[in-house]
Amino acid sequence: MIFDVHTHGWRYPDHFSDRFREQAIRMRGYEIPLDSTLEDYRAHCRTVPDRVKTVVFGGKAKLSGLWTPDRFIVEYCSQDPENLIPFLSLDPTQPGWQEELEEGHQDLKMRGVKLMPMYAGFYPQAPELDHLWQYAVRHQLPVLLHTGTTFIDRAPLDTTLPRHLDPVAIKYPECRIILAHLGHPYEGETVAVIRKHPHVYSDVSAIHYRPFQLYQSLMLVQEYGVWNKLLFGTDYPITNVDESLAGLRSINDQLEGTALPRLDPDQLEAMIHRDAGPLLGID
Ligand SMILES: [Zn+2]
Repeated sequence: MIFDVHTHGWRYPDHFSDRFREQAIRMRGYEIPLDSTLEDYRAHCRTVPDRVKTVVFGGKAKLSGLWTPDRFIVEYCSQDPENLIPFLSLDPTQPGWQEELEEGHQDLKMRGVKLMPMYAGFYPQAPELDHLWQYAVRHQLPVLLHTGTTFIDRAPLDTTLPRHLDPVAIKYPECRIILAHLGHPYEGETVAVIRKHPHVYSDVSAIHYRPFQLYQSLMLVQEYGVWNKLLFGTDYPITNVDESLAGLRSINDQLEGTALPRLDPDQLEAMIHRDAGPLLGID
């Protein structure tokens, strides 16, 4: 079984502002359609012999021009309720987020929360967010945050630093927190935070296409002894399950002919097959 903790349900371009699209094109040099469909996601799970469980969220960040209604995610997940787990999204800079939190959890039965501090322009440890963290603890909702850089020029980089989750985890030690993308390129901070806090994890989504950086990041993970805090994720539709697995499994290949230390292949496989459900309380 594979548990993909990080996928997006998006309708492209409806959920994105023109400015967001222009900046994505500026970064890549061409336009990538970010539409998500379950058929397409499943078509790229060929290398998984059995079951794939998948967390699905959209994203809300007014500042950057991204807004996916939670109901869209609920509808998406209704295609396979056994294996798709909907997370609600919040932009705490916008009025009404407290109501959206309650509606997503109580009415729409969503199972976790996705935050994008840098894209929306807020600090996750800000006192105004205490209600969110208290609510998440009280109702056992895991919170996944984008940590790491972006191509959006308006998004304030400082707000994305993994270290900002340290004060949150000190204040709310029972909260299940996932720092996305190993916090790239601030992986050192991510390792420091996940090592301290028993319920803080990181996902390895969408970083395999920088293989030497990923090698170094996972070597940090290995040397600090925190392999057990990593969760598999893809960031679909940015990339997919087959490509992510291939990228992770071939990560030592680039070291051929060198004396550099290898990443433990058993730990890599254990991470790929880690069942995030019980760890996050979303069995
Ligand atoms: Zn993502």
